[in-house]
Formats: sequence, C-alpha cells, structure tokens
Amino acid sequence: MNNYTENDSRIMEKDCQKVWDECLGFIRDNLTGNETDRVYSTWFEPIVPLKLDGSTLIIKVPSPFFYEWLEQNYADLLERAIQLTLGDDARLLYSVVMDTSIAEQPISTRIPSTGRQSTINQPRDVPMNLNHEDSREFPNPFVIPGIQKVRVNSQLSSSYTLLNYVEGECNRLARAAGYAVAEKPGKTAFNPLMLHGGVGLGKTHLANAIGLKTKELHPEMTVLYVTSEQFMQQYMDAGRNGTTSDFVHFYEMIDVLIVDDIQFWSNKAGRTQEAFFHIFNTLHQAGKQIIITSDKAPSELQGLETRLTSRLKWGLAAELLPPDVETRMSILRQKLANDGVEMPDEVIEYIAYNINTNVRELEGALISLMAQSSLNHRDITIDLARQMVDKFVKSTNREVTIDYIQKVVCDYFNIPIESIQSRTRKREIVQARQLTMYYAKKLTKSSLAIIGLQCGNKDHATVLHACKTVANLAETDKQFRFWIEELDKKFKE
Ligand code: ADP
Ligand code: MG
Repeated sequence: MNNYTENDSRIMEKDCQKVWDECLGFIRDNLTGNETDRVYSTWFEPIVPLKLDGSTLIIKVPSPFFYEWLEQNYADLLERAIQLTLGDDARLLYSVVMDTSIAEQPISTRIPSTGRQSTINQPRDVPMNLNHEDSREFPNPFVIPGIQKVRVNSQLSSSYTLLNYVEGECNRLARAAGYAVAEKPGKTAFNPLMLHGGVGLGKTHLANAIGLKTKELHPEMTVLYVTSEQFMQQYMDAGRNGTTSDFVHFYEMIDVLIVDDIQFWSNKAGRTQEAFFHIFNTLHQAGKQIIITSDKAPSELQGLETRLTSRLKWGLAAELLPPDVETRMSILRQKLANDGVEMPDEVIEYIAYNINTNVRELEGALISLMAQSSLNHRDITIDLARQMVDKFVKSTNREVTIDYIQKVVCDYFNIPIESIQSRTRKREIVQARQLTMYYAKKLTKSSLAIIGLQCGNKDHATVLHACKTVANLAETDKQFRFWIEELDKKFKE
C-alpha cells in the first residue's frame, strides 16, 4: 500500500476534497430548521477532509465536543451525504484533536446503517451510569410533602438575555452550545458546559441567558444561578449552623445549576470544592445540567482540585474571545437602541475601534459618554468621545490601534479599508497605505515589522521607506501637507 507515487497521492488528495465538497453541497441543500446558514458555517465549514481510503472518508474535527455535536445532531444528514457520494458501503471516520498534548487520533468509525461504533475516548475517569436512584431515601427538608418541588428563586437577571447577546465569531460556538443546552438541559454532550474567557467578555451574561432560555422552554425545571463566592458563603454558613446536609440536598434538587466564576476557588476553599464535587457528581449522574464559568480554561485553573478539574473536562469548554470590531460596533448599536439614544456613526466607530479589550469597558465608555453629554448638555461628538475614551481607559495604557488608523485614513480618502491589504499599486491606495504606516509609526508602539504585517503584509524596510516618503512629501508637496494637517486633526496630536 505504501508505493503510491507522489502523483497518486495528489490525485487522492484532490479526490478527497472533491468528495467532501460534494457532501457539503448536499448538506447545505438539505439542512433544515432555523438559521441554516449559521449552522452550516459553525458546524460544517470547520471540518477538514483528510483522506479518502477506498470508500472511507476521514474528516478532521476541531474537538471531541464537535464530534459529539455532529453525531448528535447531524448523523443522519452526514450519513446520507456520504452514501450519496461514495455509495452504500461508505464509511466516515473522524479524526479529532483530543488534547493539545496528545497526538491526533481517530476516535470513531461510523458505519452507516449499522449505526455508530462509539469508541470515543473522552477523559472520563469514573464509571458512568452508576445506579444512583436507589439510595435517595433521605428526607429533604426543602421539599414539602405532597409538593414535588419548591419554588427556588433562580437569581437570574432578566436583562441578560440571549436576544441581546450579540453574536460574533468570538462567541459563536459558546452561544450555539448554550442554546442547545437550554433546549435539552442535561441531555446533550455539553454537560458540564464550561464557559471561559477573559474578564468582561460576556461569560456571566451568556450563562444567565442560558438560564433564562431554559426557564422559558422548560418552565417546570428548577434553574439556579449562583456565584462561586455565594456558594462558598452558603456552604460555610451551613457548616456553622449544622445544616450542611440541607445545603447539599437543596443543591441536589436543582435541574440546571449555574456556578459563575469558579476560578474564585483557586488555591482556597478546599472543603467548598469538595462539597461542590459531590453535588456535581450527583447532578451529573441524574442527568441534570451544570453550567460553569471561569476566567481560565479548565487546564489552567490552578489550585483547583484535580478531581474537580477532570470533571470539568467531561463536557464542553467553550471559550469566549475578545470581539472583533464589527461585533463591538453591533454591541454598541444594540445598547444604544435599547436605551433609545442616538449617536453619530463616527462616534460609535471611534469607540469601537479604540476600545478593543473587553465588552465591559466598551459599555463603560458608552455610558460615561451618555452621562457626560446629558449632565453637561453637550452634544455627543467625536471630541467628547475622545475625551471619554481617554479618561476611561487611561489606566490600561491604551494606544490608538493600527486598525483605527487604517479606518480614519481610508475614510478620509473615501476608499475601502480592504484596499490597504491589497497588492494594488494604484497611486491613491499606495498613498493611503503609506500614510497609514506613517501614523502607525508615529502613534503606536508597534514595531516596523508589525506595522508592515498589518498594512498589506509588507516588510519593515517598506514601512521605513513609507515613513520617509511621507515626511518628505509633507515638506515639499502642498497637497500632501494639507492631508497631513487634516489627518493630524483627526488623530488630535
Ligand atoms: P464576564 O462575566 O465575562 O466578565 P459579563 O458577562 O459581565 O462578562 O459582560 C460584561 C458586559 O458586557 C455585560 O454588561 C454584558 O451584557 C456585556 N456583553 C458581553 N458580551 C456581550 C455580547 N456578546 N452582546 C451584548 N453584550 C455583551
Ligand atoms: Mg462574570
């Protein structure tokens, strides 16, 4: 089998891609339900066809979670697609990166018509499906006889909804998983669902929104949101009052438990973690949903009991990333629409381009801007925005971004921002690119190499040359000097 010529293997590669493209065509045409475009781009576009071996197609998926999701939701569709393309005895083999420290390995072969041979090798380290229902005879003081369930205040905030959680590349996976969890709590592979990401990126909002959606879709379910700090406090109080078992029983009756910010337990709260660990197991085994947020990925949570972190790896760890500028703009627009406030586009753009760290800061700047304007009866102008942004993010030694410089320069010349990245030698574009480089050098701390990279993939010598050219022209060319004066004003140097 090993004596393929290079040519053969190229043909095979091509066939493999072709086969997968055909499958994709079929899948795209046959996806049903809501938001098929989004489903397609979230769940099918990331798949990479690796190899065609006879009638077995090997596809690569980004994570075990991804694989389970496909199997759970699109097994039939995939089966139909592959059978149509490769015939009735076609097989699909998944290759998945299990862990960054472990090499890729195929995890499952699915043979159409005989169903799935599940050999998924998830990091589960205790036997699953323990029979737990027989040992639940203890009296639960929180349950009044005759009444199935007590009403629990879910502690959810009604303002953090899925509807106002703006979707972007940065949160697509987490949002999709959250939606799935709300539809079928405890019945998906995403249990626990672990949302992680930096401060102010929307973990609390999303976790809360999943809780609200669950209640809306399943009013009979008991949903509870707690912060890890609250949980710890309750646990300690219970210990002091001799009501630890009440505490445990209370938590064990929750259908969807959301614990926010568990990194708070790092390097402390050993007994609290222990208690949570047991509650976690009981809920998980009973098919109840657990949602957890953390500002660190499970593997980076230091000082958390290994038993607990290994549980956290069972489900899905979905990362929230900083939003790109489009998403930042949509978030701002949405907040403004909610508040019924109007703001000039250039101000929205200014804020979105200049605050790129997290959503909380973005909102903070917007709120202070609105407050300033209404307190002092001033119009919301770009000048006011500049002052607010400076004031708001002063502490984080923010600088103007290269993105923003590109935007201002391109707007000024009325050319599309993409043209900076293009290879075109058109004079006006070349000039805009050079001006961008000049301002990037002047206004940011970025190296020449980085500036070049972001301005059409040029090398550092090109950037240096651009800076000199602009400086020269500013001296000798009246038109150029005028542009620079105008642009200087925009950057307020
Ligand atoms: P975290 O818990 O990750 O620190 P939060 O959930 O508290 O962040 O989010 C900070 C603020 O940003 C909240 O007011 C939240 O509503 C808002 N926010 C974050 N992400 C989004 C989003 N995708 N769409 C709309 N608002 C968002
Ligand atoms: Mg939070």
